Amino acid sequence: KENFDVPIVIIGSGYGGAVSALRLCEAGKKVILLEMGLNWEKAGIPFSNLLKPGKSSAWLKKKSIAPFMNIFPLTPFTGTLDRLDFESINIWVGRGVGGGSLVNGGMAVTPKENYFKEVFPNLDAEKFYNYYFPLVHKELKVNIISEQFLKDCPYYKFTRVGEKEAHKAGFKTIRVPNVYDFRYMEKEFRNEVPRSALNTEVIYGNNYGKNSLDKTYLKKALDTGNLEILDLHRVDTIRMNTDKSYTLQVQQTDTAGTTIAHKIFNCKKLVLSAGTMGTLQLLLHSNAIHDLPLHKHIGKNWGNNGNFMTGRNWVKPLSGGTGARQSTIPVGGIDNWDDAEHPFFTEIAPLPMGMDVATALYLLINRVDKKGEVYYDPTNQSLKLNWDKSNTVKMRENARYFIRKMNQANGGTRSHFLFHNGFGADICYHPLGGCVLGESTDEYGKLKGHENLYILDGSLIPGTIGVNPFVTITAIAEYCIENLIRKNEFSV
Ligand code: FAD
Repeated sequence: KENFDVPIVIIGSGYGGAVSALRLCEAGKKVILLEMGLNWEKAGIPFSNLLKPGKSSAWLKKKSIAPFMNIFPLTPFTGTLDRLDFESINIWVGRGVGGGSLVNGGMAVTPKENYFKEVFPNLDAEKFYNYYFPLVHKELKVNIISEQFLKDCPYYKFTRVGEKEAHKAGFKTIRVPNVYDFRYMEKEFRNEVPRSALNTEVIYGNNYGKNSLDKTYLKKALDTGNLEILDLHRVDTIRMNTDKSYTLQVQQTDTAGTTIAHKIFNCKKLVLSAGTMGTLQLLLHSNAIHDLPLHKHIGKNWGNNGNFMTGRNWVKPLSGGTGARQSTIPVGGIDNWDDAEHPFFTEIAPLPMGMDVATALYLLINRVDKKGEVYYDPTNQSLKLNWDKSNTVKMRENARYFIRKMNQANGGTRSHFLFHNGFGADICYHPLGGCVLGESTDEYGKLKGHENLYILDGSLIPGTIGVNPFVTITAIAEYCIENLIRKNEFSV
């Protein structure tokens, strides 16, 4: 086995990992970032689009795993999209240099201030709204579609129809910012540049237009000369040594998932940014194998961010369907959060199937009244989740209310074509929590019971944030790493 002694290791190159890498590198620290997925830019392999799933479409699977249209056989490859299947819920995650930013829809939504205060009562909300959120908007290159383009572009008929119908049903709509460059999209439409959002690219990666983390935070971090990213390096276990440093068992794989080298990394400081499920897997598995000390709250306060999918088919297409050609980038949302009885937010999602299926798709985000818990099953050496129908009762009620109101005003039926009974309670894109800030960590993400281990990713957020989460994950990571650096936690 090859042995490496390095000062600082970050595990995972999603939002938490990318922010940590940039700020540590800017502070003059040498950083090694271990990422189990592929560096797609370096590999020079194009991402596939939704209609022709290829190499990038699934993490080492024999069949494509998008929530819909799963008939495509595949040769297993270290693709960008993975699905973790639990008894009552399936969780989709991104893999590759850039983590979830490669696969996600780019919706960059700032949480409502009063809900942020409710979820994080100990954080200085004013500082977040005046400083950290504007900072991450700038770094992530968040922008908004022009109203004129939205009005004119045939690829946004689904949004125009969705908003008109929502208004008719008495709902309020909002414009949703995104990290996809809308100026680029306008050029796509005029055929001046290669197409991506207008060519059914999303969830398996975007070849153009999207400012994913490899184009923003990670690029800036690499430009400092202090960052080395090792892709296709999967960390299997973490051991704490007697001097409170860490030893990591790592497997380097090829793109078929075959191990080509076993490596050991010894590091003084460890930042764990493997995403909610990856971080929990590493902590709980390492606790079982190497007795890694764990605080009693690890795994608790986990939630699906209230994710609940639903859809509508038009029996009598009022507005002539949603359009055969659809941009993959959502720009509209329905904001019912302030309704005391049925609080929810939903994106008006595209369904770019290449034909007019006269169907509307919605990803509702609800409050999480009953949290779940992640724990370790030693027999299968895998994670288990305490999460069942009882956790989603209120979400289902909200979805039912929403669809009923939309149908009463506009016609249509609950979409049995998309989901069994019309409700996708088991689809989760936003796993959050399990290593909650200030519970199992100190106020800046340092794991309790450890001197040199920091958690910086979605697992810090207690299961809910009321909107799509990456803006909040990025802002929390900025806040934590700034304070950790200020406190000289990384002086190695
Ligand atoms: P991640 O981004 O998940 O990054 C973790 C990284 O760690 C991954 O690259 C993973 O490969 C790596 N890793 C894990 N384990 C190991 C290991 N053992 N060794 C080495 N590396 C490891 N959010 C929004 O705000 N807006 C959206 O529009 C949106 N759309 C989404 C659409 C889809 C299909 C999905 C799946 C998610 C979407 N999300 C969206 C959610 C968002 O992408 C995630 O919340 C976010 O990426 C989580 O950030 P993170 O830093 O916690 O970890």
